[in-house]
Amino acid sequence: MPKIYLSPARHTPDNPCAYSKSCGENKHNDAYLDELEVYLAACGFEYRRNKPLELGGTMQTAVNESNSWGAHLHYISHTNASDGTAKGSRPIVHPTGNGRKWAEIILKHRAKIYPYPMKINERTDLYELNATKAVAIYEEHVFHDNYEDAKWFHENMREYAKHTCMALCEIFSMPFVDPYVILGDVNRDNRLTVSDVIALRNLIMSDSYDEIADMTKDKRLTVADIIALRQTIMGNFPQETILKPPATPKPPANTNPYNKPDTDLKMGSTGEGVKWVQFELQRRGYDIGPSGIDGIFGKYTDQAVRQFQKDNGLAVDGIVGAKTRSKLEEV
Ligand SMILES: [Zn+2]
Repeated sequence: MPKIYLSPARHTPDNPCAYSKSCGENKHNDAYLDELEVYLAACGFEYRRNKPLELGGTMQTAVNESNSWGAHLHYISHTNASDGTAKGSRPIVHPTGNGRKWAEIILKHRAKIYPYPMKINERTDLYELNATKAVAIYEEHVFHDNYEDAKWFHENMREYAKHTCMALCEIFSMPFVDPYVILGDVNRDNRLTVSDVIALRNLIMSDSYDEIADMTKDKRLTVADIIALRQTIMGNFPQETILKPPATPKPPANTNPYNKPDTDLKMGSTGEGVKWVQFELQRRGYDIGPSGIDGIFGKYTDQAVRQFQKDNGLAVDGIVGAKTRSKLEEV
């Protein structure tokens, strides 16, 4: 699974946010990554985020963790400032590598929702772009010193995160899964949290149907709910995959075209009654020999009868008596 390292702004002191006095650049970037992580998890990405400032998180800890973890994308999350009049999304990339190409994909998706100008800048003097082994993208999402831009970011954060994740899915060829859409269908009575859906998704992806069965019990999900989830996540799949298979496979419903015998049959018997027995044995998977249903109780039919008797706890005598006939009749 692709690994995304999340490196939000860690300024000391934090930069003020024009939208709210109680906000700041560090704070709203962490809030944005909270939203993004839900999508990343739902889509199957691995992700890690730098520690908060209070726990010693700095640019250096971000770079070190990203490099030692082996991230595929180092995603730096900042907002911009100028003279308070500028608006726009201006990601920064290093001129070498895939940074520009990937940032273009991000902006392509962002353009569907973001109302202000967008532009990719290239720089060679930024520590986090230079020191990271992964492809690095240094987001400057909006201008936090512009009220309208900061307001838009706050009010559209989830949608913004969703479109970032859609871009990451395109970059890494992952199917995009919207956990909130899934919740909308299945979570009629608020039975599931987003983390439940993510857990369920992982169980579906790993075909852990025993654990899903537990979840359906606890959360009152129906099989139809699971199928809907699975279809959203993986495409169509048959209902039988969820339902546990029976301990022993059952034969198809009884459609025996021959008349059931009312006398005992054994090696040497012939006629329609033998055909009835052969039909019953064959539909249960017993080998009745190369000539198939021929109405002749030969050695293959005898062996099949004996095996059937053994498998069903009957006396193994090769004689199709009342008890064996009765057992053969059971679906
Ligand atoms: Zn803010």
